[in-house]
Amino acid sequence: MSAIDGLPPLREVIATHGLSAKKTLGQNFLLDLNLTAKIARQAGELSGCDVLEVGPGPGGLTRGLLAEGARRVLAVEKDARCLPALAEIAAAYPGRLEVISGDALEIDPIAHLTPPIRVVANLPYNVGTELLVRWLTPETWPPFWESLTLMFQKEVAERIVAQPGSKAYGRLAILAQWRAEAKIVMILPPEAFTPPPKIHSAVVHLQALPAPRYPADAKVLSRVVAAAFNQRRKMLRASLKGLAPDIEERLRSAGLEPTLRAEQVPLEGFCALARALA
Ligand code: SAM
Repeated sequence: MSAIDGLPPLREVIATHGLSAKKTLGQNFLLDLNLTAKIARQAGELSGCDVLEVGPGPGGLTRGLLAEGARRVLAVEKDARCLPALAEIAAAYPGRLEVISGDALEIDPIAHLTPPIRVVANLPYNVGTELLVRWLTPETWPPFWESLTLMFQKEVAERIVAQPGSKAYGRLAILAQWRAEAKIVMILPPEAFTPPPKIHSAVVHLQALPAPRYPADAKVLSRVVAAAFNQRRKMLRASLKGLAPDIEERLRSAGLEPTLRAEQVPLEGFCALARALA
């Protein structure tokens, strides 16, 4: 029995249900329930919240979330081999865990959730960035979630919180920081996972802001940022010339020198440029 919930230790769960890790599904499992409870605590007070978890696997983080008091957890898992192990957790926490079997990229979980909603996940590396971008770019703001607490490869986490002037600064930083407060809250070594990945991982916590930091049309901002960073070595007057024939004038009206490069432009500057191009 494990210390946090009376269910069997995760190594035993994995052995009982034959859950050998599959690389194609990004399966690097967390087996230390003290660690998964600590990750769950990074999401803040969970007792009044529904939690969306993508990729529960054998359920280590799921158990952390439930033990830390989440009102309900909705877990979306692609690997059907994990379902019996997750059913055991659901039985230990009656009415608090719902599992959907399927691909998180194809399932819209909103109908299954009641606000306030927090998203907490140790994401599969191959779909993590895509899910984050979707959560950061809904049709309307504020989004369905209050916060995202997500495990990424450390290099991806650094891109999310990056500041101007750094190599990691780019589209992901702008997307994340325009409408959320983003910070790295934990760094984990490879040995924290079974099997261990080659690199370090990090947990990022993103708190949704009630409104964007600076006004801008989301679609225009996204186009500008994509064009600027697709050719990040070039000056803005060159990388953005396809967006408007008078791009130099528009850059100046946004307070930006046309000779700047994308990584020198702060978030506020990109928003001003999106307004000048709208
Ligand atoms: N949460 C578990 C933990 O922390 O030990 C497992 C995390 S593991 C990094 C990623 C999990 O996501 C695996 O269980 C994998 O099967 C699942 N997964 C991979 N692709 C998925 C997808 N498209 N939709 C839902 N789950 C997916």
